[in-house]
Amino acid sequence: MTVGKLIVLTGPSGVGKGTLLRSLRQRHPELYLSISATTRTPRPGEVDGVDYYFLSRSEFEEKIAQDAFVEWAEFAGNYYGTPRQSLETQMAQGHWVILEIEVEGARQVRRTFPEALLVFVRPPSFAELERRLRGRDRDSEDAIQRRLERAKEELQAADEFDVQVTNAVVEEAIRELEAAVFA
Ligand code: 5GP
Repeated sequence: MTVGKLIVLTGPSGVGKGTLLRSLRQRHPELYLSISATTRTPRPGEVDGVDYYFLSRSEFEEKIAQDAFVEWAEFAGNYYGTPRQSLETQMAQGHWVILEIEVEGARQVRRTFPEALLVFVRPPSFAELERRLRGRDRDSEDAIQRRLERAKEELQAADEFDVQVTNAVVEEAIRELEAAVFA
């Protein structure tokens, strides 16, 4: 049976994982991006089934009980998880799948899929991470504080992952990511 490669992009919120991923997928449209489920409220412009599957807490907990997630975690007061079925279908068809998830979920993926490539994206500095989180103007002050608190722990976990990419200059970070994925 052919099995596709699984690639995980992790690192603190605000570091630019989404930007790197969009760019990587523009250059390699064959990569399949897993759409996560979350209990977070949609931000303006976010579309259900495109950006995330937006679920209530009880819907999410029901899916946990059904073992419907490959991994899930609680992050800054909300649940986030990777739906099992589409990921397994894509991989069984030999497609390469990318997940963009926080650190706790990435650890779970490592346990379930030891072959996965785990890439940790670092900010050039903590001050720059804070500047980016504030600059994107997406979250309340409370949410930003929770994300910054969590980022301190997440940054300490960087060494656990296969590859580290520092997102200082986006074009360079993309080249490093591309080199790691297509090594
Ligand atoms: P945001 O609320 O900014 O969209 O995402 C918050 C954090 O949750 C980000 O670090 C993002 O990568 C992570 N995240 C998104 N989807 C998932 C998922 O399915 N599982 C886990 N563990 N984290 C996720």
